[in-house]
Amino acid sequence: MQHFDGNSLAGPLADFFAFDITTTNARCNGCGNVSELARAMVYRSDAGTVVRCDSCDHVLATLVEAGDRAWIGFSGVSAIEVRRS
Ligand SMILES: [Zn+2]
Repeated sequence: MQHFDGNSLAGPLADFFAFDITTTNARCNGCGNVSELARAMVYRSDAGTVVRCDSCDHVLATLVEAGDRAWIGFSGVSAIEVRRS
């Protein structure tokens, strides 16, 4: 199967992440709970932000910002439901 480099994702992902992601449902890897991301528990510190499942406390996502860069990880989310209008 032919593959493309990551630049080929720019168009398709722009459609998915051009909205308020807190309104989407995310499935927790820890307990399987599906909940709107806005309901998650968010902990902020100087080191960054940790987003935890409101059902089991599993880490859903991390966000680290430094200057003009940010690192976002969704290692604790198995799927995000995107509603198309
Ligand atoms: Zn959970």
